[in-house]
Amino acid sequence: MTYAHKDFEYIDIHTHFFPPKIFKAIWDYFEQRDDDDKVIGWPVNYKLSNEELIKILETNNVKFFTTYNYAHKRNIAEYINEWTYKFKMVHTSAIPFGCVWPNDNNRINYIERIFDEYDFYGIKIQPLVQKFHLNDKRMYEIYDLIIDKGKWLAVHIGTAPYRNEYVGYKNFMNFLTRYSNMNIIVAHMGAFEYKKFINLLDQHENLYLDTAMIYIHNNVFPERETKRPKPETLLSYQDRILFGSDYPNIPYEYINSTKGLLNFELPRKFYENIFYHNAKRIFNIS
Ligand SMILES: [Zn+2]
Repeated sequence: MTYAHKDFEYIDIHTHFFPPKIFKAIWDYFEQRDDDDKVIGWPVNYKLSNEELIKILETNNVKFFTTYNYAHKRNIAEYINEWTYKFKMVHTSAIPFGCVWPNDNNRINYIERIFDEYDFYGIKIQPLVQKFHLNDKRMYEIYDLIIDKGKWLAVHIGTAPYRNEYVGYKNFMNFLTRYSNMNIIVAHMGAFEYKKFINLLDQHENLYLDTAMIYIHNNVFPERETKRPKPETLLSYQDRILFGSDYPNIPYEYINSTKGLLNFELPRKFYENIFYHNAKRIFNIS
């Protein structure tokens, strides 16, 4: 049976929300052009106000969504976290995640605040852009807080859309051997090292993979489609895969985020799990 996007409700666990000024800077960066006038990242389809962005999620049947953001320099994470706190007070369907910069002197302080006082679900780390190693000693106290308080780490540790010295399976393992029980969401299903990340699911029951920007027709990720995990693999790990889109920083219509998955024509239960139930369970959404 072929299902359509509108046949399901969604919890999108990979969406970005930033203070407007920072959002604009990120979009400018994505759309920078090289000497041949070619876009360096990709054109962003949804350069809108946060209110408009949320409305579009609602029209796409998204009931809850995360607020992933990150700090790119010193002394800005606390400001972004405070902004996210105000955002989640207004937008109750937001699942708030915080950010951190390893060189901030007050990092323990603001992370304790977002966990204890603001009820954030975890933090997002983006080593590709933030340029520090996941297994950086300056982060150990933060990681201990995540574990002690049962929070989540969302991390872009895969080598898509490009790699640098801070990403990849090897870097992830340096970290995971130390924090093997942490609640972790690996973005983009660990692209492009899918197999290695999928294999980790058997030994690490608190590890999850999100589908953001995978199974997209004509994707901007420079990969061969044949490398992506097969439908059988998705089925056998249907409790450990979470739907995410990377909205709004995507170069296509939102509906394409589910199209490739729906084209596999897997059982309805599978789609309910990855689109909604898994996230509902792990985040205790009532
Ligand atoms: Zn993202």
